[in-house]
Amino acid sequence: MTESDLPVVDFHPYRWGDPAHATHLPDAARDTLAAFGVKTPTQPPVEPEAVLLPAITLDPETLAALAAVVGAGHLRSDHEARVAHTRGWSTPDLLRLRAGDGTDAPDAVAYPGTHEEVVALLELCAERRVAVVPYSGGTSVVGGLAPLRAGFAGVVAVDLKRLDAVLSVDEISRTATLQAGLRGPAAEAALREKGYTLGHFPQSYEGASIGGYAAARSAGQSSAGYGRFDDMVVGLTLATPRGTVTLGSAPKSAAGPDLRQLVLGSEGALGVITSVTVRLRPAPAERVYESWRFASFEAGADALRKLVQDGQVPTVLRLSDEAETSVNLADPAAMFGGGPGGCLAVTGYEGTAAEVAARRAGATAVLEAAGGELLGTEGGEAWRTGRYRAPYLRDPLLDAGVLIETLETVTFWSGLHELRAAVTAALTDSLSGQATPPLVLCHISHVYETGASLYFTVACAQTEDPVTQWQAAKSAANAAIRACGAAITHHHGVGTDHRDTYAEEIGPLAVDALRAVKRALDPVGILNPGVLVRSLADGD
Ligand SMILES: Cc1cc2nc3c(=O)[nH]c(=O)nc-3n(C[C@H](O)[C@H](O)[C@H](O)COP(=O)(O)OP(=O)(O)OC[C@H]3O[C@@H](n4cnc5c(N)ncnc54)[C@H](O)[C@@H]3O)c2cc1C
Repeated sequence: MTESDLPVVDFHPYRWGDPAHATHLPDAARDTLAAFGVKTPTQPPVEPEAVLLPAITLDPETLAALAAVVGAGHLRSDHEARVAHTRGWSTPDLLRLRAGDGTDAPDAVAYPGTHEEVVALLELCAERRVAVVPYSGGTSVVGGLAPLRAGFAGVVAVDLKRLDAVLSVDEISRTATLQAGLRGPAAEAALREKGYTLGHFPQSYEGASIGGYAAARSAGQSSAGYGRFDDMVVGLTLATPRGTVTLGSAPKSAAGPDLRQLVLGSEGALGVITSVTVRLRPAPAERVYESWRFASFEAGADALRKLVQDGQVPTVLRLSDEAETSVNLADPAAMFGGGPGGCLAVTGYEGTAAEVAARRAGATAVLEAAGGELLGTEGGEAWRTGRYRAPYLRDPLLDAGVLIETLETVTFWSGLHELRAAVTAALTDSLSGQATPPLVLCHISHVYETGASLYFTVACAQTEDPVTQWQAAKSAANAAIRACGAAITHHHGVGTDHRDTYAEEIGPLAVDALRAVKRALDPVGILNPGVLVRSLADGD
């Protein structure tokens, strides 16, 4: 399972990915879970057909007007389309849908086929006070697809899947203009045909799309070498209720603040990104992935810091803490088992044979000097080929009664260990009280000269009310992140889940500035109300 051989498939509303890759827990894993106090929920998940949806509040005349913009076959308000666009892919999102709760479903889903249709839809929705949820791949894990309804005539999801073309490739400048609804694997396949790669491989690669990468400032697992998605974007087109904004007439400019960066990360609150122009890299001729062992997380983190500050940076660089090292997430049977000790790191090198050789030699020297033990290519290759499998594990674990979820944050190197300790303690304290304490695993997922992001995976037995159980743990983690002065998100975004903590992080004046920009582009406040910033319908 590598990025080149994953097809684009429609997902089940709450089961991840291609059904052909669905994972089942082996009996041994079930026995292990039972020994750790995990009980299979008494109620199996509600089938999507039986999810309870709110009544449609949009009147027939508005639905007809929306259909007139996109064409009758491209507006749906049937049960299936509404369930498929209900919230995103956080564990609480999935738990609520599994319990049959479809309260956040949109009234209708519009599938525009052109940028002009998106603008016309937004103009119409502003006129009639209809809230709009921009929807690319639908993999948001921060409540970015569950806007507030209050104060609006209804909610329409604008699904960009028909905007899925590679509009142009400029081989001289090495850029491509891609439409927002192009899914990760389709974009990569089209670029590989011409000998290029985007180099953007988030773990949600099978589901997420170009527009969502831009709107939520995604970071792929190869960010050390290829950069984050916001590093790749050189231009974009934004549809707003007041018309079109086109940005990026040159790679860099000194004209005012970089407004591209204002749109990147705007999470549908300022407009709908319909296309982006991204820089390309040549498709790698060679790839080498290796694994390393360090005596401790502190030793490994120190080695990674030295490498990114003074060394030759690999394409992929990550380090698991002791707990994560001891758990092989690709093997559920080993989930609660012991491990070989120390901390494992993965280094991956991609490029021409000469580039790979040079960077590998440089990085190896730094990591060895910092105490790392090179374990060879087997573990690195296993990570590379297995990395898209982990999201498939969540479904059988939820079925079995495990509460499993992830969260991430980022800080400067000097505060990294304090942050890991504080978040680990907050999650552990909040989720203790069961027969068995929770598993709290952490790895360094993205590195910079000045700091790194920490990615936590949490697993424990579900209580009777796992949504509330997780919300309490997540609030405790958020408070710990704030207390350490770290950022509330590195790559998942703000959505509704992080909005209030984000407001605390940037302060009221910055929030006012953001809301003023929103007011300029979206005066009625129809775009994703309550996502990123407080809804304009809440007043000033
Ligand atoms: C299993 C799993 C693994 C993940 N791994 C990663 C990872 O490795 N790295 C990472 O960065 N993220 C990851 N995520 C989070 C998520 O995939 C990213 O945030 C991704 O960028 C979202 O893309 P999408 O196309 O699914 O966007 P969506 O979920 O459709 O949208 C995300 C937000 O942007 C808005 N939006 C969508 N399209 C547009 C548009 N065209 N214009 C304006 N606003 C828009 C939406 O309203 C929403 O608020 C993961 C999620 C899951 C479920």
